[in-house]
Order: sequence, then C-alpha cells, then structure tokens
Amino acid sequence: MDRSHVEAVLDGLDPVLRRKVVAVCGDCSHHEEVPQGWQLLPYQGWRSAKEQERLFREGRTKLRRSKHNLTPARACDVVWWHPVKGWSWDGSLPWHLVGSSAKAHGLTWGGNWKKLVDEPHLELRGWGEGKNDGTGK
Ligand SMILES: [Zn+2]
Repeated sequence: MDRSHVEAVLDGLDPVLRRKVVAVCGDCSHHEEVPQGWQLLPYQGWRSAKEQERLFREGRTKLRRSKHNLTPARACDVVWWHPVKGWSWDGSLPWHLVGSSAKAHGLTWGGNWKKLVDEPHLELRGWGEGKNDGTGK
C-alpha cells in the first residue's frame, strides 16, 4: 500500500464522508485493542456501475446500485493494513471498533446489516445532499 492509494480513495469521496472516514480510521488505528502494527485505512471509495455489476454477479454484494457508485461517492470501505502482512479482512481483527466509531460519527456501518454483513463498509445516511446534511441526525 502506498499513500497515493489512500489519497486517491479519499479524493473520490463526498467531502463530509471524507472527513468522517479519516476520523474513523484515526479512532480505530489508535485504539488499544488493535494488535501491534495494524491500522485501519480507506480501501475503496468510488467505483463504477460496471464494477458494481461485476461484484453483484459474483455474489459479493446484494446491491446492484450502491452509494459507492455516486459521484462523489457516499460510501467507503475501510480495511485493516499491516506493513508486513498487507490488507486484511480477517475476522480476528477488532471490526467492532469500526462499528462503534462509525456510530459516534453518524455513519451507517455495513457490519450492522442483516442480509450481507459488510464490516468494511461505511456510508452517509440518505442518497443526496438534499436529504442529509452529513450530521447523521
Ligand atoms: Zn462498501
């Protein structure tokens, strides 16, 4: 992982979401429950409708259209990263911290979803600026 990956992901996000994602990653990376060396980083933000369709066909998402496909993106996936081990979706990592931090920042967390639990997934509430001022209220 190089910093330009993280920057590119953040650049594709709605500015309110960007601020909140950075805050969640900060909260989680510095938490005492996180094993040594691991940090939480933005993995994917905006993606094309074509890529969404591919993920849908592969059964990796239940959604044919998601907030990742909006421009700017209103959803971002955050994943654990370690300088030696790389990216990890491992269930032994403290994903619950992502949930509690997301809640504190007024974001919807995919880990609470019933149909397809999606622990890396964070999104703004509502579909557009008119419906959501980003405060999460
Ligand atoms: Zn997602």
